[in-house]
Amino acid sequence: MRTGPRGLVRGAARALAGHGRRSDRVELTERLRARERQQAVVSALGQSALASRDTRAVLDEAVRAVATTLDLCIVNLVERRPDGSQVFAATYGWDRRPGDPAPAAGGPATQVIRGGEPLLVRSTEALPAPARATMDALGIRSSAAVVVAGDDGPWGALVSHSSSPDAFGPDDLHFLQSVANVVAAVVARARVEHELQLRATHDALTGLPGRELLRERLNAALAAQAGPVGLLLLDLNGFKDVNDSLGHHVGDDVLRQVAPRLRTPLDPRDTVARLGGDEFAVCLAAPRSREELRDLTGRVSDVLHGTYETPFGPVSLGGSVGAALAPDHGLDAHTLLRHADQAMYRAKRESTGWAVYDPRLDEDPTTRLRAVNELRAAIAQGQIRLAYQPVVHLATGTVRSVEALARWTSPTRGPQSPADFVALAERSGLIGDLTDEILRLACEQAARWLTAGRGLAVAVNLPGSVLAQHGYARRLAQRLEQAGVPTRLLHVEVTETTLVSEAAVTTLRHLVDLGMRVLVDDFGTGYSSLGRLKQLPVQTLKIDRSFITGLAEDRADLAIVRAVVALADELGLDVVAEGVETRQVADALVALGVPRAQGYLYAPPLPAAELEARLDAWPSSRTAMTEIG
Ligand code: C2E
Ligand code: CA
Ligand code: CA
Repeated sequence: MRTGPRGLVRGAARALAGHGRRSDRVELTERLRARERQQAVVSALGQSALASRDTRAVLDEAVRAVATTLDLCIVNLVERRPDGSQVFAATYGWDRRPGDPAPAAGGPATQVIRGGEPLLVRSTEALPAPARATMDALGIRSSAAVVVAGDDGPWGALVSHSSSPDAFGPDDLHFLQSVANVVAAVVARARVEHELQLRATHDALTGLPGRELLRERLNAALAAQAGPVGLLLLDLNGFKDVNDSLGHHVGDDVLRQVAPRLRTPLDPRDTVARLGGDEFAVCLAAPRSREELRDLTGRVSDVLHGTYETPFGPVSLGGSVGAALAPDHGLDAHTLLRHADQAMYRAKRESTGWAVYDPRLDEDPTTRLRAVNELRAAIAQGQIRLAYQPVVHLATGTVRSVEALARWTSPTRGPQSPADFVALAERSGLIGDLTDEILRLACEQAARWLTAGRGLAVAVNLPGSVLAQHGYARRLAQRLEQAGVPTRLLHVEVTETTLVSEAAVTTLRHLVDLGMRVLVDDFGTGYSSLGRLKQLPVQTLKIDRSFITGLAEDRADLAIVRAVVALADELGLDVVAEGVETRQVADALVALGVPRAQGYLYAPPLPAAELEARLDAWPSSRTAMTEIG
């Protein structure tokens, strides 16, 4: 029963028009007023539900609003737990706290949760004895209850009690249901938020903490100063062969076997994390001496070495382990990670299985300096190129925008990963220059396409540190103007982390005012509160690849994407999926109502000329051109 409050008012007005007698009219006017009041309460509740980050506060507000609007003695939100038990989620007029058990036997909550239909209890006599005793003791004479819907089946019930007999009419039930619907939306959002947070901090494949959480634990251990803090970094030798020859499902199986092995020589307080691919880390929380660390590193290397079970029979793998110890090898997480990494590479290079960091063997200050100088020269000499990847409208095949991705082939070291050289630029202060160069190229290309009648919008990845620069919005607008590119043809991709910076958000606000479009990149991997999005200058959520690539098989991913789509809808935001590699995933996206997608299925990032050739051969590219032209 999801009758909206607006429908209620219209219904009453129609009834009013049809009634001639004066007393009827007075009564109907009264009802109409009451409904309008109720409608205002529901919409105010809906507003604070959207704005608030605090689920419990909204639930408290909901029960209070029901009690004051209908003048009731007790109003409860009862939640059904997965084990079937019931607890209070919010109460008004009764001194029960959230989480306290809610009396189950035969009460209104139990009845609506079981039956699914709204319930009117005109007098407590209709109830089974135990429930009646409780109600009588509380002075309750009549009750009404409605279901709060959940993902699969009822989440719980909204139960209202009056000290007068037969106090609830059908209008009141409508009102209660509208409030329950707002509560259902709030609860659903809180669940997605929780799920996203878990996913942001934990690796989906193994359930282990991810890089950020490891860093957090490492920092906490360092801050506690309980003694030395050890860090191990390791990867599997030969893993890539398994993945390539037996398939990534088998690879995944192998990865899941790593953590249990690692745990055998470790202390339960140590944190095992997966950093990505076949790379794992261990933060050793228990104090350890240098000797103990050496000993443990060797044992970890031993347990990694051996056979792993696969459906094709056992495969033999080994690993390389690098270790670093605070305070000897560094005082902060960043330095320790780097030094453990250098030790790991030495272990790999020298095939020793493991190594503890040693500055004499591992430190090569010239390497990084050389890389920075090379990158600086590359920017200055125009070695940076852009590749463009189309964003495809799933229903029509139309391409209206492309993402620009930086490419660099070093004359001495060959093609470099953009993730690496962008990070290097961030660390070495070159990010401003690099981003300027990328924007220059992107604007030139956008102008060329505009002149050629293609009018493709170009999305550029802008780091938070650049957006936070004072006056950046104005400089960007000038650049577009000089290039002759209308602002609507520049899209800006930012990460959730960027949205935490006030200065960057201010710039984004200007950019949106100027007509640019802002996308939240890698959506779902950060910590952002979904409620806060409404206040932020963003128009599109770009759902991270990690939720998309396995979408066709993974129910958890499916649930998340479905919830993100619903939320985006609620907030008036657009959605794009990235990392679409198969037809099955594309079909799943269409079924979920995701309008646009990007991924290898359609095209990899390509040089401009190659992209143009693809678009010309594309079935619906002509529509795209005329639509924008
Ligand atoms: P991103 O912004 O999330 O870019 C998308 C990445 O996904 C690109 O990797 C792209 O090649 C890749 N990709 C596209 N379709 C698929 C697919 O179907 N499956 C898979 N597995 N991957 C797909 P790329 O080019 O290596 O860039 C990696 C990251 O480096 C980018 O992630 C972005 O964070 C950064 N980056 C790249 N270019 C720039 C740039 O111009 N400026 C800045 N600030 N960062 C950049
Ligand atoms: Ca991006
Ligand atoms: Ca992305």
